[in-house]
Amino acid sequence: MINVDVEKTASRGIAAGPAYKYQETDLSPDTYLSEETAEEIKKFEDSRDQVIHELEHLAEKHEIFAAHLEMAGDFMLQEGVVSKIQSGQYNAQQSVHTTIEEIAAIFAGMDDAYMKERSADIADVGKRIMAKLKGVRLPDLGGLDHEAIVVAKDLYPSDTVKIDPAYVKGIITEEGGITSHVSIMAKSMNIPTLVGVKGIMEQIQDDTVVCMDARAGKIVIDPDESTWQEYTRKNQEYLQERARLEKLRNQPAVTKGGKRVSLCANIGNLEDLKHALVMNIDGVGLFRSEFLYMENDHFPTEEEQYKVYKEAATLCPSEVTIRTLDIGGDKKLPYFQFDVEENPFLGWRAIRISLDMKDMFKEQLRAILRASAYGHVRIMFPMIISPSELQEAKGLVEECKAELSEEGHAFDPNIETGMMMETPASVMLAEEFAKEADFFSIGTNDLTQYLLSVDRGNKKIAKRYDSFHPAVLKAIKQIIDAGHKENIKVGMCGEMAGDAKAVSILAKMGLDEFSMSAGSIDYARELILQAE
Ligand code: PEP
Ligand code: MG
Repeated sequence: MINVDVEKTASRGIAAGPAYKYQETDLSPDTYLSEETAEEIKKFEDSRDQVIHELEHLAEKHEIFAAHLEMAGDFMLQEGVVSKIQSGQYNAQQSVHTTIEEIAAIFAGMDDAYMKERSADIADVGKRIMAKLKGVRLPDLGGLDHEAIVVAKDLYPSDTVKIDPAYVKGIITEEGGITSHVSIMAKSMNIPTLVGVKGIMEQIQDDTVVCMDARAGKIVIDPDESTWQEYTRKNQEYLQERARLEKLRNQPAVTKGGKRVSLCANIGNLEDLKHALVMNIDGVGLFRSEFLYMENDHFPTEEEQYKVYKEAATLCPSEVTIRTLDIGGDKKLPYFQFDVEENPFLGWRAIRISLDMKDMFKEQLRAILRASAYGHVRIMFPMIISPSELQEAKGLVEECKAELSEEGHAFDPNIETGMMMETPASVMLAEEFAKEADFFSIGTNDLTQYLLSVDRGNKKIAKRYDSFHPAVLKAIKQIIDAGHKENIKVGMCGEMAGDAKAVSILAKMGLDEFSMSAGSIDYARELILQAE
């Protein structure tokens, strides 16, 4: 039995179960020689057929796998691999490796952007077949079919979108901080999560039993019977605490001092919204629309986005704040090649991408506008640093409104357009921005990293990532005051809004809206009710 103490808790809760190690596997082809061509062809065909079988199941759950399924059964792959084996110079693994490289290169060389993006798909299919041929397990969170605690060096948003909370009972990562996206996603799914746990990958093997208390920051590897019992008891206590908080749900979020604030949810998809609605929220303060893009195998069309935003607007009786695409940084798309950047968080991300790719941006704006006919929808722009960016984005909204009117589509003509306050420049120019924006939402996850020059996901400097640093607190106060001077509402959708230590401070500063992952809402309501 090994005990591990962890400094930072990313998402509360207690969990226990077998570990599932999520790590890269060596898929380079073995170089053995074989003259048994029929045997090698059979090895390939058996492996490929197993992959097809797996993909058939996955395609039922995620659309992205339908394209993979088609490629796995394609004649070009069969032909390429078999002819190489028959040449006598390649074994099955080498044939698959080379053929996949050839096909991927053909796709990558095509002019059509959609076809270009297919090279990543065929590479993925290749990995699956190679793993079967080599008899190794491919790390695949989407394919997990039993309850487990996922242990990884790090998880990216492209991994976390595949998580099914029915199976993933807990998450432990070596890297990451409490505002890295793995933590945010875990919180919205209510999965107990500990991040920044040094050396955990070496200490745990696949299927080793692990107990974790993500409230106290404790992990026990290979627990004895009495520890197991203790965790079972702790879990009971945790569930009782949650039941007590649930009873407060019917109370509106009013401070002791009598200020009614909005208690809202951060969501990434409709599932998150449904989960949050049960908690009697005052609306959605942040819909991270990029998750809709990340869960897809192509840029979602206007129609596809419209469907989702419309459903969100219809389901939610109050405001739904849709943030326009915020990719870049650590958020990548499986079908879009980003250039390698030295400083991705200071690079081509968020509004910068949208303003550079106007056609794509307008598809999103049109979809949001059309959905605004069905509820109280607001548009929010991420990472703004200059009034000219806000003006340009608002100009595009007006352009889309004119087009939609012409085409006879309904929308809310007075739709509010607001901005994230998450860059130092936005703080310095808050008074100016308050004259242009209909609302502000403070993104403390990025604001903290940019103000303090501390990477939000780097565990080595996690102690320095402090949203309570006087510089951050001062910036928050300045933003709230600047907004109120121009009579606009100021919210916060960074993780700080749900931090137990922050709620009363923020309420005192005059924050109007607290928006957070669903997992924090019940706790925050109690804190707001207790705040002066
Ligand atoms: C933030 O930066 O605080 C925020 C809410 O946006 P994200 O975490 O998606 O960058
Ligand atoms: Mg941000």
